[in-house]
Amino acid sequence: MPRTQQPPFIYRVAVPSPLRRAFDYLPRSHEDKTPLPGMRVSVPFGRRQLTGMVLGTDTRSDVAHSKLRPISQLLDSEPLFGPGLLELLQWAADYYQHPPGEVFSTALPVLLRQGRPLVETVAWWRSSSDPDTARQALARAPRQLALYELILERDGCDRDTLLAHGYQRELLRQLENKALIVCEQRPEPDAESFNTEPLTRAPSTATPHTLMPEQRQAVAAVSAGLGKYQCYLLDGITGSGKTEVYMGIMATVLAGGGQCLVLVPEIGLTPQTISRFEARFACPVVTLHSGLSDTERLAAWKAARSGTAGIVIGTRSAVFTPLAKPGLIIVDEEHDQSFKQQDGFRYSARDLAVMRGRLESVPVLLGSATPSLESLHNARTGKFTHLCLDVRAGGASTAAMQIIDTARQGMEVVFSELALLRIEQQLKAGNQVLTFINRRGFAPLLQCQTCGWVAECDDCMAQFTLHAQPRALRCHHCGRRQPVPQACPGCGGRALTTLGQGTQKIEALLSARFPDYPVLRIDRDSTRSRRRFDAMLTQIHSGEPCLLLGTQMLAKGHHFPNITLVVVLDADSGLFSADFRGQEHMAQTIVQVAGRAGRAERPGEVLIQSRHAAHSVLQRLVSLPYRAFALELLTERQEAAMPPFTYLALLRAEAPAADTALGFLDKICELLARQAGDAVEWLGPLPAPMEKRAGRFRAQLLLKSASRGALQQRLTELLQAVEALRCPPRLRWSLDVDPLDLI
Ligand code: ADP
Ligand code: ZN
Ligand code: ZN
Repeated sequence: MPRTQQPPFIYRVAVPSPLRRAFDYLPRSHEDKTPLPGMRVSVPFGRRQLTGMVLGTDTRSDVAHSKLRPISQLLDSEPLFGPGLLELLQWAADYYQHPPGEVFSTALPVLLRQGRPLVETVAWWRSSSDPDTARQALARAPRQLALYELILERDGCDRDTLLAHGYQRELLRQLENKALIVCEQRPEPDAESFNTEPLTRAPSTATPHTLMPEQRQAVAAVSAGLGKYQCYLLDGITGSGKTEVYMGIMATVLAGGGQCLVLVPEIGLTPQTISRFEARFACPVVTLHSGLSDTERLAAWKAARSGTAGIVIGTRSAVFTPLAKPGLIIVDEEHDQSFKQQDGFRYSARDLAVMRGRLESVPVLLGSATPSLESLHNARTGKFTHLCLDVRAGGASTAAMQIIDTARQGMEVVFSELALLRIEQQLKAGNQVLTFINRRGFAPLLQCQTCGWVAECDDCMAQFTLHAQPRALRCHHCGRRQPVPQACPGCGGRALTTLGQGTQKIEALLSARFPDYPVLRIDRDSTRSRRRFDAMLTQIHSGEPCLLLGTQMLAKGHHFPNITLVVVLDADSGLFSADFRGQEHMAQTIVQVAGRAGRAERPGEVLIQSRHAAHSVLQRLVSLPYRAFALELLTERQEAAMPPFTYLALLRAEAPAADTALGFLDKICELLARQAGDAVEWLGPLPAPMEKRAGRFRAQLLLKSASRGALQQRLTELLQAVEALRCPPRLRWSLDVDPLDLI
């Protein structure tokens, strides 16, 4: 009887390539183990050999069977990702319209991406014979006998041990040939112990605070919902004890054997949070961030995957870390823009965290003192459960905000008289003062007083920022640096002056005005050295009166209990930002900076200098609590039909010539016009607000729809057509789904 022919199996594999699809492969010719979804395989791709990940199987392929090639090698003996995470990654590839191979690569630690085995193995020799028989057989071969005895005595040996004892590989072969020993592959000793170490239960080592009623309710609400998906917005003013709430819930999760994944904006800025977790819980805590070496990262990743690590803290890409026993996902400072990847695979880690919770059936907790309008909207519509903390812990009051009208002040006057007076008073009273400005460098502009020439970056349509230490003109958009000219390149005159202020200029100004007090500048330039940053933090925490000066780095993570006065120097740039989220971001930054002050018994005061003191947004910001303020912004967004009431996708193109970029987007508009349906509208193509950057002209096309589903479907169809377009040489294009800004 003829055997019925099985339909040929096809493996669908995500292979790192810029193409927006997975690729089909045949099984290996002699299959010993079956590749399962989530396992890595080595596959031929063009003339190269690449590491891909099996997504699933099929019986049919769109490609002719004769053209399919077999998988070269199976790299894993178990799936690296469980079904939930696999589904998340595939969902993300679809939703963000990004090549699945690149999505899977992003999710893997570099070493695994390169094909390194999950468990490193070593060659291991052990006796395979009866010792007495072996001794007899080796009676005339003393070296071999000695080696055999060593292997016997140690219950097996690896190569390093043998070499250390002065034995050669040749001797081993002789013993192997006599069938007295065998060689096998064993997991590397440390790798093994890492994976089998039991998850330590989490007894409290630091006594937790007695929770306040609101905190208690929040902990109870989330703890009652463990083991299933629900998203909670923990909307609590700065200092209201959100971290205590996290820890209260984490304690229950850990005690039940679950793991907690905590996403934070920047690890460097949250050492306090990490040490609080470590002090409270006895379980292993691992961190995943860009400062780790590839080896460290892989070790942390494995500890998360095996379940060894009870708490996994990481930045954006940690959302893809596999967990053996996922119990809770926390996104701290959920409004923070760093959760959105701004190039390549442009995903939002916050949004993916929520989707992951859904797919893995675990609760997700989004925490912030200044929630994003998206999350507030979701809380209002009932998609998220809204948990509010409106009281500060320890009885501290929130800082009072006041606007100082600087409209009549000369352009070059930095501090108003009132601000200077208050600074002096606070310093004399032994307190600390914080000045906030969102611009590093010395001055944002170098200008010629004679002819009006302004120093501009040749590669960007942007002005150079003058830096004082080291002295140079620097472009904050492309990184270009050049020496400061002695004379004006326009007229040859020497009357070059600076306009506006950066952190370095204000540092000089404060030092001159208050010579008796240290001035500590905290920005990206001054904190490049971790040691210097730590030294500054120590000085601040010593409580001595000082002047702190910084950019929005200061608005993140740190508590400065001795600050009683915050001066915000330029609120106006946020008021009139070209971006539709400009006011939201300005408000979040100011409220977060204000939150650094008045933590302890000392009440804080916030002075906001503005040339547009009567602006309604500013007025509402100082008179309303953040939540009420944000709800008003939300109403304005609804009226303007902008997110979260509509959904956006931004197609960007850039090329050495402006016409190339615009022309390409014109073609895309033609494609759009040919598609059916009117649920999606588009705006553009237009030159980008920053039209030239790093020597390339930028244009963009904005797609908008009231229906997320309609936009998704349209994008999928559109991109298929776009991929078939002939792309002009040196043109780069990208799609940003749910863009954070439209700049
Ligand atoms: P948030 O994360 O909301 O800014 P934290 O959790 O960091 O707030 O708490 C702010 C400060 O208040 C911390 O020093 C913390 O130890 C303290 N704290 C929090 N909850 C309580 C409480 N219930 N009783 C006393 N102090 C508390
Ligand atoms: Zn000039
Ligand atoms: Zn530039």
